Amino acid sequence: MTGNITLTMIKPMAVKKGFIGPILHKIAEGGFRIVAMKYMKLTLEQAEKFYEVHRERPFYQELTEFMSSGPIIAAILEKENAVQAYRDYIGATDPAKSEAGTIRALYGTNLGMNAVHGSDSDDNAKVEADFFFSSLERF
Ligand code: GDP
Repeated sequence: MTGNITLTMIKPMAVKKGFIGPILHKIAEGGFRIVAMKYMKLTLEQAEKFYEVHRERPFYQELTEFMSSGPIIAAILEKENAVQAYRDYIGATDPAKSEAGTIRALYGTNLGMNAVHGSDSDDNAKVEADFFFSSLERF
């Protein structure tokens, strides 16, 4: 069975470039309902914890430093088969290879600064949603 929530972040460079509004608009247009949302800045330690699964990858330090370099939007999105639906909607990891019209193609800068995060499994969606939001912050 597939789950109905995924966790997204609008990453620091997309926030800096003024893309919060356009990206939220795109998310709504894609039929994703916002269950929870916050505007915040991760500490380096929080970014390291969030990306723990990537600790052994060569870009871990670059990724965590970037993700804690400025404010982000974090949100839980709801839709049927949300994880896969949202990954399809945002496009490939590298914006240069993302399908035209996807969020990463439209608003991504490069591989590291690819505009948004999307959970990669139902299990991780739950862990990531719990990382950011209590039950009182979900509607
Ligand atoms: P995703 O599931 O499409 O987000 O991709 P991954 O799980 O493979 O990687 C997680 C995040 O790490 C990506 O969204 C990128 O922002 C970043 N990332 C992946 N590969 C690289 C890389 O080679 N260099 C840098 N700087 N960042 C990377």
